[in-house]
Amino acid sequence: MPVSEAWHQRLANARAVRQHARQWRTRRTRQPHLVNFADNDYLGLAKDPRVQAAQAEGARRFGAGASASHLVNGHHALHDDLEEALAAWTGRERAVLFSTGYMANLGVLQALADTHTAIFHDRLNHASLLDGSALSGARSRRYHHNDSDDLSRLLARSRCTHKLVVSDGVFSMDGDVADIEALVRVSQQHDAWLMIDDAHGLGVIGNNGSGCVGTRWGSDQVPILVGTLGKALGTAGAFVAGDAQLIDHLTQFARSYIYTTAQPPGVSAATLEALAIVQREPEHRLRLARHIDYFREEALRLNLPLGESRTPIQPLYLGGESRVLQWAEQLYQAGIDVGAIRPPTVPRDESRLRITLSARHSRRDIDRLLETLAACHLEAL
Ligand SMILES: *Cc1c(COP(=O)(O)O)cnc(C)c1O
Repeated sequence: MPVSEAWHQRLANARAVRQHARQWRTRRTRQPHLVNFADNDYLGLAKDPRVQAAQAEGARRFGAGASASHLVNGHHALHDDLEEALAAWTGRERAVLFSTGYMANLGVLQALADTHTAIFHDRLNHASLLDGSALSGARSRRYHHNDSDDLSRLLARSRCTHKLVVSDGVFSMDGDVADIEALVRVSQQHDAWLMIDDAHGLGVIGNNGSGCVGTRWGSDQVPILVGTLGKALGTAGAFVAGDAQLIDHLTQFARSYIYTTAQPPGVSAATLEALAIVQREPEHRLRLARHIDYFREEALRLNLPLGESRTPIQPLYLGGESRVLQWAEQLYQAGIDVGAIRPPTVPRDESRLRITLSARHSRRDIDRLLETLAACHLEAL
């Protein structure tokens, strides 16, 4: 068999282009000894012994995997329990589980939209939302970040009967929160549906940790609510919450729901436990809020280039990629892991360190981070 030279060339070219742009990513294996300010485990639930035990027990009783898709016979009683708990938490009639947030967004948009639909995205929406739009074949427009006037202009120009406004709840790379009130108002003015992906808000903000939409806005205002379980809840998977008509539609038409194995029952058991902790123990959220205030206060005192975020996502806007990499490396050498976010994840010249705070951090962890950042900052002057 001859090696296909054409394929070899294609991959080599793609690599060369990425490397030339200095965008070739390297994967670093997680080092448990580092103080971690890079992940999305905002409440420390991924390592909560109660959550871990629930996962082990779920696996022991019901299997390491679900062993089939939901519509065949992989839908376990634990999945029902979790869907009901998630619906109640977010004040919705029903919820349906997906294996990941990425798949939830692909599934929702593919199941709802087609070439006769217009989808309006915030410019900073998560990649999974943009990919879902592309998959659906809908006409997509992007409005300026968190700018409901721009959205309103675009909606007014659309002649589509079915219009869908889509936004992150908490923006994943900036940490700012969508203006839900304005999005609800403008969507209703233009007879559009509103979909909020609250991956980073759930568990962290709102009533009972129910996120930036949660129980404050009902299905009449925000018909489609997406949440992920791999962030503040510390486990894995995702869900869509809404009224029965929407959820029934998704279970029938969302291909990323239908053609995949259901999530392992142990993961659902762990999520149920994590959700109970979120609802029962507000102290984790309060501790996190104190960390956020403290970090911001001290970082501002050090003149670090902070954004406006009041959430656990605290980006430092350093501009150039090389500076971001340099700081990240210096932090790494000091035993601290932060995210170095660069194009194509963010626009050119908007590279940043993405620092995430968690209730599991101690004040000393944060002081250590601040000291190292201060040293980086001094050297850069
Ligand atoms: C992380 C994230 C997702 C993807 O969720 P996964 O469960 O990790 O696939 C979707 N949307 C937003 C806004 C996210 O931040």
